[in-house]
Amino acid sequence: MVIVMREDCRKKQVGEVLAAIRRRGLKPRMISATSRVVIGIVEDLAGSLVEELRSLILQMDGVESIGTFGASWKLVSRSFRNERTTIRVGSSLIGGPDPVVMAGPCAVESREGIMEIAQAVKEAGAAVLRGGAFKPRTSPYSFRGLGEEGLEHMAEASRMTGLPIVTEVLTPEDVPLVARYADILQIGARNMQNFALLEAVGDTDKPALIKRGLMATVKELLLSAEYILARGNSRVMFCERGIRTFETETRNTLDISAVPLLKQHSHLPVIVDPSHAVGKRELVSAVALAAIAAGADGLMVEVHTNPDKAFSDGRQSLTPEAFHAIMRHVPAVAAAVATAYNGGAQ
Ligand code: PEP
Ligand code: MN
Repeated sequence: MVIVMREDCRKKQVGEVLAAIRRRGLKPRMISATSRVVIGIVEDLAGSLVEELRSLILQMDGVESIGTFGASWKLVSRSFRNERTTIRVGSSLIGGPDPVVMAGPCAVESREGIMEIAQAVKEAGAAVLRGGAFKPRTSPYSFRGLGEEGLEHMAEASRMTGLPIVTEVLTPEDVPLVARYADILQIGARNMQNFALLEAVGDTDKPALIKRGLMATVKELLLSAEYILARGNSRVMFCERGIRTFETETRNTLDISAVPLLKQHSHLPVIVDPSHAVGKRELVSAVALAAIAAGADGLMVEVHTNPDKAFSDGRQSLTPEAFHAIMRHVPAVAAAVATAYNGGAQ
């Protein structure tokens, strides 16, 4: 429910509406408090309560109209917040005018390895270092990451390069540990609907990057982000990383339309991971630039100094040189489309 107050309403009248909502055990949210006060109630309400609240509030002084969110996602929606959300991480502004590129290995494999890759991606122009310490693997016998030792190596690489870090957290129990090291908490595709994990991340004050599940719709992705915002953490970004289709030549199929679609429905930034989308390093460059052209706020790219020896995802990992080549084209593509979507989904 969305309550729009009259432009000339008084503070006391707003207070009375808020109190009436609270008296029913509900939590009113201030959607806008500037030119015109707009109050939201995001909880799903029984039909009878909606009717009762509607008739009560409509006759209160200072109230102009009452509407609905129009979708089951609310806090992530553009009806809740029309301006785009920006998230400051280190010296970068995710969701701001320039795309933010996150790069690094699939997994942290050793102290020396991550230091070398961190230096290389920094030199190529990456703004955030990626690297998994807790790895979700299809087989329990595959390399599953160095755990806390990996986080320590990431932290050291971050101190050396000045790059903030994004790293995956697999379980709700690990959230406090990973949050001590990470600048951005990554929720992996396989965990997109791990609601306990989403809530645990929502209870932190760390920015979160939520990857689209392999079989998840855009609507489900929006609702997963809603879980995090509903707990009070609104610094969330989406990551489109390809979905499973009948095509087997690529690892997944990048849903490029998810970029403008997510931006149409939500104020949150959208990142694209071309590496997991295509699974083949020779395809990463074209797809990365296509994502920027579609209006993505940034990229997450896997880079390894020796991809053929990588413990995981070597086939899709770029050498630092190949990554640098993409980075040289990102600003030009971003500039070419900077004004292209005005008035549209952007
Ligand atoms: C990763 O980023 O290395 C990863 C495991 O990604 P996803 O969750 O998208 O498969
Ligand atoms: Mn990977």
